[in-house]
Amino acid sequence: MNKLNQTPLQEVHGLGAARSKDLNALGIHSVSDLIEYFPFRYEDYRLRDLSLVEDGEKITVQAKVYSLPQVQRYGRNKSRMTCKMLVDEQHMITTVWFNRHFLKDRLIAGKEIILSGKWDRKRQTLTVSESEFPGSNAPQTGALQPVYSVGGSITQRWIRKIIQQALQQYSELITDPIPATYSQKHNLIPRKQAILFIHRPQDASDGTEARRRLVYEELFLFQLKLMIFRSMSRTKADGIQHEFESEDVRKFVRALPFQLTDSQKKVTAELLSDLRKSYSMNRLLQGDVGSGKTVVAATALYANFKSGYQGAMMVPTEILAEQHYQSLQELFEPYGLEIGLLVGSLTNKQRRDVLASLQSGLIDIVIGTHALIQEKVHFRNLGLVVTDEQHRFGVNQRSIFRHKGFNPDVLTMTATPIPRTLAITAFGDMDVSTLKELPKGRKEIKTYWVKHNLMERVLGFIQKELQAHRQAYVICPLIEESDKIDVQNAIDLHAQIQEVLSGYKVGLLHGRQPADEKEEVMSQFSENEVHVLVSTTVVEVGVNVPNATIMVIYDADRFGLSQLHQLRGRVGRGQDQSYCILIADPKSEIGKERMRSMTITNDGFEIARMDLELRGPGDFFGTKQSGMPEFRLADLAHDFEMLEMAREDAAELVRSDEFWTAAKYLPLRELLDKAQLMEKELD
Ligand code: ADP
Ligand code: MG
Repeated sequence: MNKLNQTPLQEVHGLGAARSKDLNALGIHSVSDLIEYFPFRYEDYRLRDLSLVEDGEKITVQAKVYSLPQVQRYGRNKSRMTCKMLVDEQHMITTVWFNRHFLKDRLIAGKEIILSGKWDRKRQTLTVSESEFPGSNAPQTGALQPVYSVGGSITQRWIRKIIQQALQQYSELITDPIPATYSQKHNLIPRKQAILFIHRPQDASDGTEARRRLVYEELFLFQLKLMIFRSMSRTKADGIQHEFESEDVRKFVRALPFQLTDSQKKVTAELLSDLRKSYSMNRLLQGDVGSGKTVVAATALYANFKSGYQGAMMVPTEILAEQHYQSLQELFEPYGLEIGLLVGSLTNKQRRDVLASLQSGLIDIVIGTHALIQEKVHFRNLGLVVTDEQHRFGVNQRSIFRHKGFNPDVLTMTATPIPRTLAITAFGDMDVSTLKELPKGRKEIKTYWVKHNLMERVLGFIQKELQAHRQAYVICPLIEESDKIDVQNAIDLHAQIQEVLSGYKVGLLHGRQPADEKEEVMSQFSENEVHVLVSTTVVEVGVNVPNATIMVIYDADRFGLSQLHQLRGRVGRGQDQSYCILIADPKSEIGKERMRSMTITNDGFEIARMDLELRGPGDFFGTKQSGMPEFRLADLAHDFEMLEMAREDAAELVRSDEFWTAAKYLPLRELLDKAQLMEKELD
């Protein structure tokens, strides 16, 4: 790898300074960049048997010139040339060439030529779009031809040639960083062969094998860097070594109004053990909606408090902050903890008080929105930060706290369950815990998909549930909270529904309301004084009103699957059977498929996987802030299994002593430098 890394482009025969510059613009700076510039698809120029070709197909055949070409000229550069050719010694065909009269003199009877073009079966005529005489070292026809992303003066034809040239000169120098044990274990072809194949596969299976080999390499090296980085940060004892009595925590857990699920117990134990260690905890806790993450976090916050530290919990919306604030206050009341709330809508005086109490240490645990990571917030001794629904925040809150002079343990929670391997990839150096089960006794939410013209029946259904003293949400799409049109939609829908359900109180909630108004509506809904809540997605995460049994989602096709699942998770929180009704008239097949899949499964992990497949990882994580790495070949939506394999191998390798000492692993160890670079990026 290394040598070719340092070989300048201009050592490739036929590659001059001007073209080098254009290659640079494509990100190609060395010979290794060039031969690792992989095609993104292939065009099929494989030779075909004419007797099997359908009318109108694009084909490639090898032919022999039979007659003198006839040229008709019209206009300056326009021409039509015809020439009879013999294919496979049995088909006499007519070839038609437009504006290629300059080839006339080369079409000598008996000469072999490869032709691509459109086949007119009835007239036995081929309209030639590309032609080539055999014998070139980089033939452009007669095979699967790679298609590269090109630009500037660089054409498809030229880059194919120059890559083949580079391979001819340098393929012997291609080295293979993947330990032989792993190549053998997974049946991977050698690197050199993979690179040759990917640029010039003989058939589709060559391409597949090559891709498999190179995707593995990409993912393996990526995972290896993560592991090395992680093992370094693990050995840095710069975190807080929490000290608390296990018995105190056990008492706390025993006093909860329910038994922890087995998953909750396991994860709690992982957290407590992390807290006691001297390196900083950086753990992702993922669990489906309703799996009970809050209480697990609360237990960790309690242990943190018992160790003498302050804790913080950061959530994405004020509504959620308010809700957590209340439930944690109740939970911690018997133990005399002081809980604070820090959100954007506090009055100046309230805010000053909270800030002062945080600095003096009067507040033990503070719940807040991103207001928590603003400049003026100072803690006395911050020991643990919990962020709920982490995908809504940027990834570097941790470094913000560090810059404030703290190095707290960090617990990140997400209810958008991310397939495990992807979580590891996306969140790099994090450990991952998963709540695998829901608390017992929950009823499966029944999900239906209906068209808009059934809205009346849906309202009738809501009315029946209201008569049984249950409650309903009606969600309107809102892509941006600041979008006026969407807010208007919510207002209109609210008015319509209130009219139909005139005997009940219908509340309205959207992001544009003042905070106290939102709070008022939410608390009325919690108390069943508001029976139906028409809302934008501000209730998407975390909101907990167990008496609500119906979730109606208007224009459901405008939401992502994971978001729909989140919204659905607002019901099914009590004893009663709950329902989710998706109202949508999607036009595309994918749109219909998405709606259908929601009705089929309640499993957030399964939904996340489907979402990922239908949308791709970039969209899945919403924004660039997710820090998802970009891969050259690997496609995380489809290469999950490979990622998992690569991860296991990398982990095994890093754990072995040999990896750190044996000479044969030197090239891999050199990746350490890059891992250190990465740490800088993360901070
Ligand atoms: P999420 O993981 O979606 O944040 P919550 O923490 O809000 O879920 O928990 C959902 C509901 O389940 C809450 O009302 C909570 O009190 C309850 N709960 C949590 N753990 C258990 C358990 N082990 N048994 C019964 N109910 C539980
Ligand atoms: Mg939650």
